[in-house]
Amino acid sequence: MKIGQKIKLLMADITTLKVDAIVNAANSSLLGGGGVDGAIHKAAGPELLGECRQIGGCPVGEARITRGYRLPARFVIHTVGPVWRGGSEGEDQLLARCYQSCFALAEKYEIKSIAFPAISTGAYGFPIERACRIAIWEMRRNLEDKNAGDIIAVCFNHRTFKCYQEALQEF
Ligand code: ADP
Repeated sequence: MKIGQKIKLLMADITTLKVDAIVNAANSSLLGGGGVDGAIHKAAGPELLGECRQIGGCPVGEARITRGYRLPARFVIHTVGPVWRGGSEGEDQLLARCYQSCFALAEKYEIKSIAFPAISTGAYGFPIERACRIAIWEMRRNLEDKNAGDIIAVCFNHRTFKCYQEALQEF
């Protein structure tokens, strides 16, 4: 299988993508916030917040699925990344678990195209090179294990794009 054909890097606003599911880098309340979370709630409309309220939160490393409402994407998979605390508090494993939790839901809901933001690399302060390496590693593992659908790694700035490119070349 040609992994490079299945993981796509894209400079984009994730809220504009017409895919089966976009991933939200949420906080554990699932009640919205800044960054990509704020952008997704704004674009999806208030119905999204209504559904999130009913879920009642999500622990770090886990994921929950909702409809996409006014988004072009059918589903939103909300995952809660770890806050970076220096790297010795299990941050790497928790970030990897976010991707694994999202892929588990994607499989369950027969999602064939999924777009991820660079989870934890904004307000949560995770070092970008390290986060991109973990993301690509988990994406590749998912493709190898399950030969799942298309995966889009969404980059909101050039630095993220470059880090993903390097991580793709590394493995
Ligand atoms: P976290 O709290 O998990 O760090 P942030 O939303 O602060 O979440 O940042 C996560 C990543 O999402 C960052 O790389 C940021 O640049 C990116 N991002 C912010 N807005 C968007 C958007 N509209 N589409 C795609 N990525 C975005």
